[in-house]
Amino acid sequence: MGLKLFNTLSHSVQDFTPLDPAGKKVGMYCCGPTVYDFAHIGNWRTFVFADLVRRYLEFKGYAVTHVMNITDVEDKIIKGVRESKTTLHDFTGKYEAAFLEDLKTLNCTLPQQMPHATENIPEIIALIEKLVARGIAYKAADGSVYFSIGKYRDNGSTYGRLLKLNFDELRVGERVASDEYDKESLADFALWKARVPEDGTVFWPSPWGEGRPGWHIECSAMSMKALGESFDLHLGGEDLKFPHHEDEIAQSEGATAKPFVKYWMHGAFLLVEGKKMSKSLGNFFTLRDLLAKGFTGREVRYLLLTAHYRETFNFTLEGLQGARTALARIDECLGKLREIAGRDALPRVQADRLDNPARLVDDFTSALDEDLNISAAWGVVFKWITGTNKRMAENSLSAHEAAAALAAWDKIDSFLGIGAPAEIEAPAEIVALLEARQTARKAKDFKKSDALRDELKAEGWAIEDTPKGPKLKRI
Ligand code: AMP
Ligand code: ZN
Repeated sequence: MGLKLFNTLSHSVQDFTPLDPAGKKVGMYCCGPTVYDFAHIGNWRTFVFADLVRRYLEFKGYAVTHVMNITDVEDKIIKGVRESKTTLHDFTGKYEAAFLEDLKTLNCTLPQQMPHATENIPEIIALIEKLVARGIAYKAADGSVYFSIGKYRDNGSTYGRLLKLNFDELRVGERVASDEYDKESLADFALWKARVPEDGTVFWPSPWGEGRPGWHIECSAMSMKALGESFDLHLGGEDLKFPHHEDEIAQSEGATAKPFVKYWMHGAFLLVEGKKMSKSLGNFFTLRDLLAKGFTGREVRYLLLTAHYRETFNFTLEGLQGARTALARIDECLGKLREIAGRDALPRVQADRLDNPARLVDDFTSALDEDLNISAAWGVVFKWITGTNKRMAENSLSAHEAAAALAAWDKIDSFLGIGAPAEIEAPAEIVALLEARQTARKAKDFKKSDALRDELKAEGWAIEDTPKGPKLKRI
């Protein structure tokens, strides 16, 4: 079945058909992190969502070029550089390294291209020059260059298609210099910001004098350089619809007179305990905060993948605990399946070559094809687990069927990216307790062996007797 996606541009669910005449290649750009702090759990909701989109498109057979920029110069970064008294490179480098590490912890596929704004200054300047040449951008008295919404609209273009802005109701302001502003101050926005003393050493030469780019133009320049003037998919969190994405469309289409992006996808926000995350409310979590609490990247990824991307997600620590329990249920079922499948030492078989009564792959992907309805898709998984557990309890599942079930799981996990739990190595003193228990068992001292098992349990370790001997498992 074909994939349908909600397109913010058309405000409707549409069939996904890439621009490539062969219907094979897909260009996808996701606004990347602004590297002025550690990415928080809300940011990660958006990046895990982008990872799902990319992996699912690949699963559907598309050759995806996934581009995610690193915003390494904008207002908040300049402020951070000034306050920390470091260089731009040192300041952003630290947070970028942390971001890449977190991306790995969450098992996100690395985008094929991760352009940096600071490495694309000539491209950004060239794009602004085009806009100036077309009369849509102008240099103001302070030496900054602004995008003229009025001129853009006079040329017959529509500004504000993602939000359906009604200009009759808007108080259009003069111009706005900062990267972030709200709808009420809709105004000509800065493409190039003339150097001011607060910028310190962060500036580049340009035809309009020394300065630095505005945030919005960075994404237009980098996305078109990587994917061409028109490309398929552009993603980001819902807060980026305005002004960032509206501005990206205006700058790009203003310069090329071609449609910029075919499908826009926006992920809804993550709230914590129903509130916007903020440091002052004490409800602000980075991924690192959660790891420090003993959770794993796998658990966080799973939790972030449980809700539909267009629904606001309420994050709680109890919810994360619930994710751990749900994953344990999946892992237990898969573990038992592996045991049954391994009995006849069967090679892994293709799920679709064997009868798969639960139709896991078909049902799961049918749900995802409907605008990535992942909540419905998880319903399919848990129904499958209940059915499979029942069959295993009845001893009616053959090794063949177990292998087919595992192959089906592997297929859906190719885009879920949940993977297997990391083997946690037991510390030496725990291994010593296990060995002592084995010795006691051999000597038929069951009282002692039971006591040792209880001691291990108290330390948080269970013993699993497998055909290859006893194994330690974290409880
Ligand atoms: P930033 O690093 O601030 O540029 O944000 C990176 C990405 O995270 C953007 O796509 C934002 O839209 C997204 N984002 C920021 N806050 C949240 C949140 N609370 N929930 C979901 N996405 C968010
Ligand atoms: Zn962007």
